[in-house]
Amino acid sequence: MDINIPLVDLAAQWAVIGREAEPRIREVLGRGDFILGRALEEFEAAFAAYCGCRRAIGVASGLDALKLALRALDVGPGDTVIVPAHTFIATALAVSAVGAQPALVDIDEASFNLDPRRLEEAAGPRTRAVIPVHLYGRPADMDPILELAARRGWAVLEDAAQAHGARYRGRPCGSLGRIAAFSFYPGKNLGAAGDGGAVTTNEAALADRVARLRNYGSTVKYRHDELGENSRLDTLQAAILSVKLRHLDEWNAARRQIAAAYTDALRGVGDLLLPAEPADAESVWHLYVVRTSRRDALLDHLRTRGIGALIHYPCPIHLQPAYAGAGWRAGQFPVAERVAREVISLPIYPEMSEEQIARVVSAVREFYG
Ligand SMILES: *Cc1c(COP(=O)(O)O)cnc(C)c1O
Repeated sequence: MDINIPLVDLAAQWAVIGREAEPRIREVLGRGDFILGRALEEFEAAFAAYCGCRRAIGVASGLDALKLALRALDVGPGDTVIVPAHTFIATALAVSAVGAQPALVDIDEASFNLDPRRLEEAAGPRTRAVIPVHLYGRPADMDPILELAARRGWAVLEDAAQAHGARYRGRPCGSLGRIAAFSFYPGKNLGAAGDGGAVTTNEAALADRVARLRNYGSTVKYRHDELGENSRLDTLQAAILSVKLRHLDEWNAARRQIAAAYTDALRGVGDLLLPAEPADAESVWHLYVVRTSRRDALLDHLRTRGIGALIHYPCPIHLQPAYAGAGWRAGQFPVAERVAREVISLPIYPEMSEEQIARVVSAVREFYG
């Protein structure tokens, strides 16, 4: 059957902002400054301000944002970086890509985020940094992470790819550690019309280094101070992102309302475990993720009713085939493994109508009889 309530609906979003964005796109086309152009500078300034940071540097993707942040921190071969076992693979992949070793840590069952109580176990003599992920839009419990990192001299790199606009104890995600990585993959809360990402930081030296690394290691044309990469955020994407950024708070508020509606309507249904909003943080509900022991059957049931539920993520990092040679084994991170078997994401996007929410709710209720 056709999926008629998708997990996210980007066409519905364009219907809201297309008229605002098209003149901005035409301006870039008219100027022709496609690489490192004016609209990129404008977006970087606006996004830095939005994140409560002094600097934002636009890059080609969220994975590149993580990689370039690690390179700016001088993390490389021989170093280890602590990463949660339950996340999108990019978090670990960035560590591997710079030649360092990811050290996995299990997650906290209630928050789905890195469990700060287990951080010490994951640490070793060559630990250089930790990457808390604000998974599903919910801020990781940063204070104990920041405290231990400060004590041990580790850098904290936030993976904020799912957390544009989220707040922890009043402070925006992306401004909590030394440096942070965002993704503008189209389905993210702030998404481009293609790939994109950004690094945010308050440290001028780190920002300058990322800006240089993304542009062939160069600040003066044809002089290359180090071995850089080609990882610039397109000016066209930046122009679109600037328009969308103005809507982001309103969109995140709509997501919060949809999450609240799901939670009200699904409380006590079957064996569902519903996601809770933490007392001291504000989630931006990138995903609405519930748990059930009958996950696969519920997924089938929803899909045959045209509802685009998905699994984020069905396989923890240590069991991914790509990491088969890394020496991890099944059973090593039991919370991540259990969660991977039980989670299912229900559709959530700002343009979702009340009728669509009601259809998802009734399909879930029907499943449990
Ligand atoms: C999307 C995502 C990334 C990677 O972003 P891309 O833009 O797809 O490279 C990294 N980490 C997390 C947690 C993500 O969700």
